[in-house]
Amino acid sequence: MNDKSSEEQLLEFLYACPVGLIECDAAGDIALMNPHAMQHLLPLAGARDASNLFAAMEQHAPELRSIAAAHTAPTGRVCDGHRIFVDLGPGRRAQAPKVLACTVVKLAPDRLMVTLSDISQQVVQEERLRQADTWFATLLDDVDEYAALAIGADSRITSANACFTRQTGYESVSAIGRNLADVLEGDQSGGDLRVEEQVKIAERDGWHLQEGWQQRSNGERYWCQRLVVARFDYDAPSPSGFSIILRDVPRRQEAVDDMRRLLTCDHLTGASNRRHFSQVMEREQGQWRELRQSLSLVVLDLDYFKAINDTHGHPVGDAVLCRVAEACAALLPPRCIFARLGGEEFGALLPRYDQIQALGLAEEMRAAIADLEIQVPTGPLRVTASLGCATFDEVGGSIDALITLADERLYAAKRAGRNQVCHSSARAA
Ligand code: GH3
Ligand code: MG
Ligand code: MG
Repeated sequence: MNDKSSEEQLLEFLYACPVGLIECDAAGDIALMNPHAMQHLLPLAGARDASNLFAAMEQHAPELRSIAAAHTAPTGRVCDGHRIFVDLGPGRRAQAPKVLACTVVKLAPDRLMVTLSDISQQVVQEERLRQADTWFATLLDDVDEYAALAIGADSRITSANACFTRQTGYESVSAIGRNLADVLEGDQSGGDLRVEEQVKIAERDGWHLQEGWQQRSNGERYWCQRLVVARFDYDAPSPSGFSIILRDVPRRQEAVDDMRRLLTCDHLTGASNRRHFSQVMEREQGQWRELRQSLSLVVLDLDYFKAINDTHGHPVGDAVLCRVAEACAALLPPRCIFARLGGEEFGALLPRYDQIQALGLAEEMRAAIADLEIQVPTGPLRVTASLGCATFDEVGGSIDALITLADERLYAAKRAGRNQVCHSSARAA
């Protein structure tokens, strides 16, 4: 016999359910959420409004709003297992990524049921299987050359085969005794792990494989599969050294580019995503520390953007975001990157730009945005942005302080009337 009311049973179920469940209206306002959902959503929301699904997801999955809006049918499945990659923040790249799977079902025109589950382990597993598959398939398909290196626990090279010289251009004899990272200087433009980071993971997991650009001694780049395997002496708790195998693989251009785009680009505007931006920022911070080359950051936020959405609709807002990203990215030289940091906020990282140069470029971006004309049925639509500009030298090389200072100046530009660049603390005060 069961004397519990159906409501009590439902509550019990919601508490015990191992998946995050959220019920909200079409605008994302949450009516009900179980503890599991709360556990996932609150860290994602940060300082944002956690009582609205789309606002809470703005930073990590801004596309969710458009996906839901695009589903115009009164009921049905809006998305199924949509993957949300959660940015763990600076300094945690070597850790496994946190990935949530999100399914949204429209129960009625103004009622959405959302499930969130943590599939991080599964994604890591998939990635590893995919890597191992490719690796073994290529080994079996065409057993061709592979460069082999061995390093000791101190990361110094203890041996290198003849193919290593043919592939990289470094003489094996001269490589021996040198630090691995000095010889295998990678190209991290795509946010790849450095070889020493790979070694750390291999130390933890036994092995690690990645594909990425590698440099030959003459500076030429080639696409390389790099496998690092830990070697353990009998019964020893930590590795006595590592074996590294390098394969020069003809680049499967499209597949690799697709994957890279998926991981590094914002889905709507094609600008870099926030995660990639943070990775590049960390790398540039290293350069700044070593070489004291200047580095500047410009952050920009569109003015009165909500009004554009309200007046012309979300799709027009989306088109504006794309045009702004395109116009700004076109102004940046190759080493700089332009990223969508969230909603209608963008950032440009400018290596080797001092304060004056960064201000010049920020002013060009401001003017390019103000010059845009977006055609809508009522005539050309115009938009402006407010920008804040800061350099590493002003904040002693702290990424957090750099972002805070640029943000403060952005808001100073807003307060001073918008459509302008603020670059000095006198005005930010
Ligand atoms: P301010 O000048 O003070 O920045 O005003 P604002 O209206 O731009 O500021 P607010 O932050 O209030 O509005 C930002 C709006 O951007 C709200 C949100 O709905 C919208 N938004 C965020 N992401 C997207 C998106 O992907 N597409 C569209 N169309 N709009 C978005
Ligand atoms: Mg904003
Ligand atoms: Mg704005």
